[in-house]
Amino acid sequence: MPTAPTLVIPTSLLPADGRFGSGPSKVRAAQVAALATAGDPAAPVLGTSHRQPPVKDLVRRVRTGLADLFDLPDGYEVALGNGGSSAFWEVAAACLVERRAQHAVFGEFGGKFASATTRAPFLADPHVVQAAPGTVAHLERADDVDVYATPHNETSTGAMAPVRQVQDARADGALLLVDATSGAGALPVDVADTDVYYFGPQKVFAADGGLWLAVCSPAAVERAARVEATAGTATGRWVPEFLSLTTALANSRLDQTLNTPAVATLVLLAEQVEWLVTQGGLPWSSARCAESAGALYDWAGARDWASPFVADPDERSTVVATIDLDDAIDATQVVRVLRENGVLDVFPYRKLGRNQLRVGVFPAVEPDDVRALTACVDHVVEHLG
Ligand SMILES: *Cc1c(COP(=O)(O)O)cnc(C)c1O
Repeated sequence: MPTAPTLVIPTSLLPADGRFGSGPSKVRAAQVAALATAGDPAAPVLGTSHRQPPVKDLVRRVRTGLADLFDLPDGYEVALGNGGSSAFWEVAAACLVERRAQHAVFGEFGGKFASATTRAPFLADPHVVQAAPGTVAHLERADDVDVYATPHNETSTGAMAPVRQVQDARADGALLLVDATSGAGALPVDVADTDVYYFGPQKVFAADGGLWLAVCSPAAVERAARVEATAGTATGRWVPEFLSLTTALANSRLDQTLNTPAVATLVLLAEQVEWLVTQGGLPWSSARCAESAGALYDWAGARDWASPFVADPDERSTVVATIDLDDAIDATQVVRVLRENGVLDVFPYRKLGRNQLRVGVFPAVEPDDVRALTACVDHVVEHLG
């Protein structure tokens, strides 16, 4: 039996939709409706072969939609595969890093990619540029580095980094890999500045998890081909087929994946990509998310018991906002009371261990609902006593 809420938030204060998670994030009703009608009745999509035209058409919609959204530069291509961004770290370690990577680490996710290249027995230990949670680490040119890697938005802390080339790195032949799992589609970017801009579908793209998507430059495609060409030779490294970027690219060009994808995820993703393009693309979505995040930061700034966690306003994420609460207020209790009232998933990243609210303000979330959330938090804090 559901227990009665500790505290009832007046209906007039509640957001129309209470999903504020940082991933999986709010899925729009229209996307869910599209699941029911995906494909015409004569050519249904769900429950049919991923090797036949209806599902291939879905993959084509995702790839062309993303090409549109990111205004794909000449020669760049969109690849996809199963396993999420975590799998892509292994793909990158296996196929893109030749000898040594440099990682900007300023939170959990950047750190996880650094541990992937640390574990790879065929790579030299990576060079790690570290910064404290709540700040941003910046990549720096180094002679012996052939891949530079940074998160675009560190979802665990709510800090975002500008995407820009490391000085002279391209002339050195190095690649820039950007983990844009929670930023792609909602933060401004010129993908021409990157070699691989990769992400998953469960954050900005409001779908389920399980896929990785990667916008790849010609240099990245060429690097993978060269590294993988040594696979199987006496001196070459072992690249499992599941982790082969070259194989993923070959399948993607045919609007396929190496193995069976979650078709429902592709439906939700295709709908969201096309919705973002129709609404006005990256300029529209980044302005909308900045409005939502700005409402949270301004609200926190106007309370003496709340403050943005990220000190530098330029580094405050416009997609995942983190707000510290005064120690006198138990954030865990606030999060629980909100959940009892249908306002969901504003807990901080578990390993960050702060007395904090973390709010996903992806484009699917209405800015008015974010303002309603702040009123709900005010109400809870005032009445918890
Ligand atoms: C969520 C997230 C990931 C992990 O994505 P999975 O699809 O669960 O592997 C990686 N990087 C960032 C920046 C994220 O936000």
